[in-house]
Amino acid sequence: MSGAAGARPITRHEAPGLARASLGGRCPRCGAKTLFEGLLTFAKRCPACGLGIGEYNVGDGPAAFLILILGTVIGAAAIGLELALAPAWYVHLVWVPLVIGLAILGLRLGKAAMLFQEVRNEAREGRLSR
Ligand SMILES: [Zn+2]
Repeated sequence: MSGAAGARPITRHEAPGLARASLGGRCPRCGAKTLFEGLLTFAKRCPACGLGIGEYNVGDGPAAFLILILGTVIGAAAIGLELALAPAWYVHLVWVPLVIGLAILGLRLGKAAMLFQEVRNEAREGRLSR
């Protein structure tokens, strides 16, 4: 592996594992914390090693899993709270920021994990050979 022109070469030792890359928002190639340029937006390119992050597409995979997981967990927790304590209706407003926070955290983790796997497995869209 080699980096972009002018960037120092990347050694295998610097490449993060799946957990470290996902939890830290790290570049799958060099391990720099450059994967996201916004809350949920990938950077176009890693400034440290030149990896074209924008060339990969994780699609809606993380969101689909997250909807199912969060919907189940939060729905069960809300039903359990209602059945156990029967609180006033406004107590259930606690689920709104909880869902938003967990969705953002889960999307960052899921998107980073899927991008990591795409980079490691050199997954790309299918192309016709000429
Ligand atoms: Zn990098």
